[in-house]
Amino acid sequence: MENKIKIVFATGNAHKLQEINEIAKGTGIEFILPPAGFDPEETGTTFEQNSYIKAYEAAKLSKNIALADDSGLCVEALDGAPGIHSARYAPTADERIDKLLKNLAPFGNRTAKFVCAMTLVDEFGNILDKEIGECYGEISKERSGTNGFGYDPVFVVDGYGITMADMTEDRKNEISHRARALNKIIQYIKSSL
Ligand code: IMP
Repeated sequence: MENKIKIVFATGNAHKLQEINEIAKGTGIEFILPPAGFDPEETGTTFEQNSYIKAYEAAKLSKNIALADDSGLCVEALDGAPGIHSARYAPTADERIDKLLKNLAPFGNRTAKFVCAMTLVDEFGNILDKEIGECYGEISKERSGTNGFGYDPVFVVDGYGITMADMTEDRKNEISHRARALNKIIQYIKSSL
């Protein structure tokens, strides 16, 4: 039986863990949940800082190497908003999209990107690797598609002409900001650990 490298992934979200393990399939690396009690305060002002805060908290708790991500949508005409506030832009996922479409309505420029920062740290807080993954696109005027989550129904991916919510899960896992950051982290883990 294959002996997998096990790394703690700093999330309380089992769905996200599953997505990460799907992307890492076939690499010999398995990500596992942090111990109970993992509940970091995301007090950073950048994706990078928040991913470090989460990773260090999980690494301290588990006394193991831990990886964390922090991600969001950055819209050019809105000076990068909602950015690190993506999850809290409005109370529900539907209201967040409504607010985005309303705020963007006066602008011709609908360029946007999803950003994912990932940080791998040890239990002492040393950064072993940090990577950024980005996925470029445009915000559509109307929703389309039912896959994915968050802003996926209004994010039309460059080069594909369809929203992320219209993509299959497999395709999203090839081209997403999270996949791009994770693939770089995996390269590091495979060459250094
Ligand atoms: P978190 O890093 O999982 O906390 O994600 C922050 C927020 O950014 C999410 O709640 C979503 O609103 C948004 N977001 C991050 N990644 C994606 C994605 O792949 N699709 C759609 N929305 C996303």
